[in-house]
Amino acid sequence: MDLQAIVDDIVRELEPRLGEGKVADYIPELAKVDPKQFGIAITTVDGDVFTAGDAATPFSIQSVSKVFMLTLALGKAGEAIWKRVGREPSGTAFNSIVQLEHEHGIPRNPFINAGAIVICDLVLAGYKPKEAIGEFLRFVRYLADDETISIDGAVAKSETNTGYRNYALANFMRSFGNLHHDVDHVLGVYFHQCALSMTCAQLSRAGLFLAAKGADPISGYSVVSPKRARRINALMLTCGHYDGSGDFAFHVGLPGKSGVGGGILAIAPGKASIAVWSPGLNKVGNSALGSVALEMLASRTGWSVFGA
Ligand code: GLU
Repeated sequence: MDLQAIVDDIVRELEPRLGEGKVADYIPELAKVDPKQFGIAITTVDGDVFTAGDAATPFSIQSVSKVFMLTLALGKAGEAIWKRVGREPSGTAFNSIVQLEHEHGIPRNPFINAGAIVICDLVLAGYKPKEAIGEFLRFVRYLADDETISIDGAVAKSETNTGYRNYALANFMRSFGNLHHDVDHVLGVYFHQCALSMTCAQLSRAGLFLAAKGADPISGYSVVSPKRARRINALMLTCGHYDGSGDFAFHVGLPGKSGVGGGILAIAPGKASIAVWSPGLNKVGNSALGSVALEMLASRTGWSVFGA
């Protein structure tokens, strides 16, 4: 299979559609991004890399970072984290507060904002916010094997200044006792995590352990156990695309996590880790062209986990 030809074709076929969707503007800094961009990168479990389009342009990975923070939290606190966050798709918006009241401050899953904020609280245990952010950054650099990856301070600041909804979620959960640290500290970690800036090439490399039973096939190091990798993939498949997770499974059929910066990390278990990016979002907040590109890729490679 000629993966380079496949990604080149996808870029060529999507060219006339560049700019589709709507760039997230509730975080003012994200609204400045040029919508007419599209990148794709595939890193295979054999260590081959295929890129096309704007695959070397850094972008704000936003909620895609929740996969890496969850992995870190599982390493730190183990299965105990499931006492404080669930594993069910929410069926409501990523920043919704409604279910939290019925469910006593326990978020439905670690990929909606409330769940990701609890995960930050877990990672913060025994640390100052700066130390937790530093540990997270080191972890992603290690996964991507790239020391140049950084956090975009302007994006973090922009969201700190306007993240009213996330403050509401955090305070609400704190009132139920499901946050153990100062709300400003927890959100400081969360906003910096979301402001991680990466290219498609770096992101696909960082996700590779999830395509290879938890071990990095290039370095040979084990990141998580095969069972844990399988479970993270299961959560990505069921909860990784906000309220569009069912539709993404229907059209693409791969575990994936999207972010409002327009990035998507998708995992083809046993085969490859794929990152796509295009800033324009569809109605449920997933990259419009990114979703189309992954559907094209899945149908041309036969990589859907549900069968070719
Ligand atoms: N930092 C964003 C927020 O909390 C992340 C949203 C996302 O990418 O889903 O609103």
